[in-house]
Amino acid sequence: MERNSPITELKNIGEQRAKKLNRMNIFTIEDLLEHYPRDYKDRSRIVPIAELQKDEENTFIARIKGEGTTGRHGRLTFTRIKVYDKTGEIALVWYNQPYMKTALKTGEAYLFTGKIQSKYKKREIISPEYEKIEGNFAGGRIVPVYPSVAGISQKMLRGYLSDALAEVQGTLPEDLPVWIRQKYHLAERNFSVQNIHFPATEQGFYDARRRLVFEEFFLLQTTLLFLKQAYFCHDQGVKMEQEDALTFGESRLPFSLTDAQKKVLGEIQKDMTSGKVMNRLVQGDVGSGKTAVAMLAAYWVIANGYQAVIMAPTEVLAEQHEKSFKEMMEPLGISVVLLSGSLKAKEKRERLAQIADGSAKMIVGTHAVIQKGVEYANLGLVITDEQHRFGVRQRGMLGEKGDHPHTLVMTATPIPRTLALILYGDLDISVIDQLPPGRKKIDTIAVNSLYHERIYAFLQKQVQAGRQAYVICPMIEENEKLEVEDVLSYTEKLQESLPNCKIVCVHGKMKAQEKQQIMEDFAKGETDILVSTTVIEVGINVPNATVMLIENAERFGLAQLHQLRGRVGRGAEQSYCILVSDAKTKIAKERMRTMTKTTDGFLISETDLKLRGPGEFFGTRQHGLPEMKIANLYRDTGILKEAQAAAEELLKRDEALEEECHTLLKDRLFGQFLGKSLEL
Ligand code: ADP
Ligand code: MG
Repeated sequence: MERNSPITELKNIGEQRAKKLNRMNIFTIEDLLEHYPRDYKDRSRIVPIAELQKDEENTFIARIKGEGTTGRHGRLTFTRIKVYDKTGEIALVWYNQPYMKTALKTGEAYLFTGKIQSKYKKREIISPEYEKIEGNFAGGRIVPVYPSVAGISQKMLRGYLSDALAEVQGTLPEDLPVWIRQKYHLAERNFSVQNIHFPATEQGFYDARRRLVFEEFFLLQTTLLFLKQAYFCHDQGVKMEQEDALTFGESRLPFSLTDAQKKVLGEIQKDMTSGKVMNRLVQGDVGSGKTAVAMLAAYWVIANGYQAVIMAPTEVLAEQHEKSFKEMMEPLGISVVLLSGSLKAKEKRERLAQIADGSAKMIVGTHAVIQKGVEYANLGLVITDEQHRFGVRQRGMLGEKGDHPHTLVMTATPIPRTLALILYGDLDISVIDQLPPGRKKIDTIAVNSLYHERIYAFLQKQVQAGRQAYVICPMIEENEKLEVEDVLSYTEKLQESLPNCKIVCVHGKMKAQEKQQIMEDFAKGETDILVSTTVIEVGINVPNATVMLIENAERFGLAQLHQLRGRVGRGAEQSYCILVSDAKTKIAKERMRTMTKTTDGFLISETDLKLRGPGEFFGTRQHGLPEMKIANLYRDTGILKEAQAAAEELLKRDEALEEECHTLLKDRLFGQFLGKSLEL
């Protein structure tokens, strides 16, 4: 079995189970090995039956007394099996699992873990976990607890991992060069993978984790530095000659730029006249006016005779950019062309031809703009909007289009500067740290669902006053079909409560055109309330919208809540953000508190990082940071710094990774990050 063999090659994984595992992005043995525990349980303390504690989890060893009995509790069938040790006996009960009678063999010893419950005065344990005591049994141990999905139990995952580990044990190539492992005191790879799942000792766990965290950061850092070296250190960047054009562009905007926008534009101007290739990240809170800056940069490039392209993460956003870029550019005789996945073949051909012959100057689109078959006549600038939806790989790909165009990456994720410097090691960073004048602070309140009536009355009042509102619909599972049902039924319910409001909804299953129409109607004020599922429409701009109502707010991380809130407060009217949540967890409460207390994106993102536990399943994606499998960006900054230093040292010593001791590392980098960028 190979590392990249499909998981179905493991003996207990069939098609059905594989499908469920696929939902957690587990496809190969390697994916499985990288499915790290989110927690551990200490089962190394084994107690005699006589000392089992009520209401807490106990681990004990016992023998099966006999076949057991079956019976019924209402609609449930149950299987009751007695077990014993030297100190006493206890009954184990399973519901609707008749096969337990034969699964456990009379007279054999097993390790059980479960909670004692006393019902009808009998002491029993419902559905304990069990493990057969076999030859090399070394006592209870520390067991992993994994992120999982419905239908895949902890026991199954533990089994799969232990099978997978047995298959590849000792064969995982050590891709960290020996000199780096020695210098930074890092454990060997096979040891680490084994011990992160099934730690033999506490120290084993710490050593394993340190190595894997280091490895994850190190691969990312090396990739970033490699990209910088390969794509961006070209001296022959397109040089802008027509400096005046920028001032002219500015004069065409309906407002004057803020000082922060001017500062950033100045930095861009400097880059693009330097003769080198610009590679800049523009960070700015939602609504700080990043798009305006990008538009001016694009206009400037076009005035200098080149093409510019802006890439948005969703079709709706691309279409919105198309609209605003057209508004500014078409009166100046610049043709703006949209390229999206949903174009008809004929339209697409025509547009591709315009892009190839250079008659299309401003190109707007989704990632369709970087796909194969898109040839640019003379691309001068590539802008990526809402960067957090695109990974490192795409960044590399953009650099490959055209003849070293300048790149501008815009992100609304206000991550702490120190972290940004490390994570975006391949980019220079500008920050728009000021909002356009006249913005009012958004009033934010957090309530529970008992407040619905009052909230709806408030929505009604706002609509009567001519305002509009967004509602982010409650949603239980990450499942597209259910999602649609949820939105539709919620919208219906809302409509019943607010019969005088025009309510519409958008969801992920709609055709782009349909979505576009709904968004346009909303933007024009023809509808009052827009219900939507998640953040699909993250960058939309409707200044008349003054309420953002978020149901089940606990589903979102702070950064995401902040993004959503940023959709309102864009006009002159007072705006409101209402967070509805019944969640009682500490994290949820802390998030709600932070949201009501501050609107400072940087502070929010820092708190967000602090609140995140290690290995949270939905991880950092929504945060705009690279998704980490094991590292915690906030807590592991010490290791991050070491990994960065090591990556720099590595490339200084061996720029192209040609030394023999770096071969494995190079293979891994190309396999995992760099190589794939070429085939997308
Ligand atoms: P971002 O992309 O950073 O979220 P946008 O560029 O979409 O922000 O700007 C948000 C809103 O603010 C838009 O309606 C835009 O026209 C407006 N805007 C941008 N810059 C200024 C400015 N300097 N003065 C007034 N309004 C501005
Ligand atoms: Mg924007």
